[in-house]
Amino acid sequence: MENETIYMRIAECKACVNDEDGNFDELMEQALADMLQVKELQEDSSCLSHIQLEESVWCDFLDCNIDAVFVGEDDAIHALASSRGGVNLYQYFPYQIPRGTMLEVLLQIEKQLKRVEHKYWWGVYKRFFKEEFMAWRKLAKRDLLYSLQMTLMSTQKITAHPFKLGKPVNQTVLQEFCNDWQIVINDIINEVNEGASYDDIRVCDNCGLPMSDGYYLGGEFACDDDCCLALYNGDKEQMEKDLSHADEADGDCYYTEWDSIFFD
Ligand SMILES: [Zn+2]
Repeated sequence: MENETIYMRIAECKACVNDEDGNFDELMEQALADMLQVKELQEDSSCLSHIQLEESVWCDFLDCNIDAVFVGEDDAIHALASSRGGVNLYQYFPYQIPRGTMLEVLLQIEKQLKRVEHKYWWGVYKRFFKEEFMAWRKLAKRDLLYSLQMTLMSTQKITAHPFKLGKPVNQTVLQEFCNDWQIVINDIINEVNEGASYDDIRVCDNCGLPMSDGYYLGGEFACDDDCCLALYNGDKEQMEKDLSHADEADGDCYYTEWDSIFFD
């Protein structure tokens, strides 16, 4: 029931925004999925999934600011609001909040869609890139640099969604993605010219891609969530257990960023 109400509001929101690319529906769905999954931010609701608004929305009906929306344990959509006294209060979201306020909240979620879209396409390109690379590196047994160069060439030629038939790709994100890998390739060529060895490159222990960020797992490296899970042979529970100690002084499984793909 709550969801239906939300979808009605989304339709209103859609009518107010510029949807030139025609992918508003899918993106909003992802934003909602994010809303249901993201667990971060505000301390007093840290155990609950929510989406943080970039700017609070004033709601005079409730005499408070709406800061975030989240899903409660009862699966109802709530708003996290702060009153003038600074006290946080929880209110039912779709029913009690006036249409205009709700619309403003949704417009803000729409603003966050670009971020969601970027993340989505980056993930699609990474998956394609990884599969291509593994075919060159592991099946054809070509060297690291050659495998990367061939993979980049085929990635640059992507014009349709590699995993969903007939879906156009986001070229802006594709270019950004390919530029990143071009930089990695150039770095390898330059460093090797200056005497560095291929053994000085930090590569993922699952797929073999060079990495400047990712997981360190007590001696092994994983370039992203998928490769991390693969190194755990799909044992998600153990993986999450190990990574939950990441912030502790003696934690030896964590996510981090390095200065480059080369070991110091
Ligand atoms: Zn990997």
